[in-house]
Amino acid sequence: MLLGPRLPLQGADQCREFLVRFAPGLASKPKGPKRDGQAHVDPFENPDPDLFIADLSIEHFLVLNKFPVMPQHFILATKEFKEQTHLLEPNDLAAAFDCVRAYAATGRRLFAFFNSGEESGASQPHRHIQFVPEDTQQIKKGESGWLVLADKMLHAQYRDQLPFRVFVEWLGDLDADTLHAMYLSLFTQAFSAINDRKPTTDEFRGAAGFSYNLAMTRDTMVLCPRVTEGAPLVDERGQVRGHLSLNGTLLSGSVLVKTEEERKFLIDDEAALKRVLVQACLPPRESKAGGN
Ligand code: AMP
Repeated sequence: MLLGPRLPLQGADQCREFLVRFAPGLASKPKGPKRDGQAHVDPFENPDPDLFIADLSIEHFLVLNKFPVMPQHFILATKEFKEQTHLLEPNDLAAAFDCVRAYAATGRRLFAFFNSGEESGASQPHRHIQFVPEDTQQIKKGESGWLVLADKMLHAQYRDQLPFRVFVEWLGDLDADTLHAMYLSLFTQAFSAINDRKPTTDEFRGAAGFSYNLAMTRDTMVLCPRVTEGAPLVDERGQVRGHLSLNGTLLSGSVLVKTEEERKFLIDDEAALKRVLVQACLPPRESKAGGN
């Protein structure tokens, strides 16, 4: 995988940078039942034995991603089919956080992300949460590795510089119910920002009603509502130079491109990424005072 230089979102501040990852494998990834227009085979109904890692609990298993975007990209999926668009349950979050904590216990960082809804970049309707570990090979080679944007988003000053809206909670040592309560708090904040009212009791059940990416690290949970799945990459003459699709990896500080031309375009035109982010996410709120 080729990495591009980091792209500043605003100004040249080191903090506000994205890594452009060249992931040509993305082109062969199934687009999902609605976008492929072909009969859908659920990859998590009978996971490929060559990719299967382990049963994690009576409800979840772990499997390697067949189309990894980063080394050791793996997936936690529910054994029984559950909807990807429905709100996560306490056990889903607890299982994901167990994985993050298990990595932390060995001194490695693990980034978890969940894509939910038509515009989130999700392709599979069977509930799953994805993980990418910090790339130790990259660190060994002296490359700076990962910025883990989600962790930086804990700081209001950092969030306020972003051209899109996120909702953030700090995670300490939590039990499953508290973790879930934090997720519901993020959901409530995002729902209220979108609908100008709080969700009713019924709206805490079933489908979330909007697209979002959720990210979790050892310290942070971030929810980023999504408006479009991506946007064309358009140059200053109005010519389309490719298409950038975004999913939860965005909250790790990475964007994934399918072609060398897209990679080069994003690197040459530093404002292009920001233009896509602005279209794909909610605008930042106007007041910059504190909180989320
Ligand atoms: P998403 O596109 O966010 O819904 O995530 C679904 C993930 O499942 C993608 O990252 C795919 O690469 C991955 N995937 C698709 N088919 C398989 C498969 N048969 N086994 C394991 N992972 C798969």
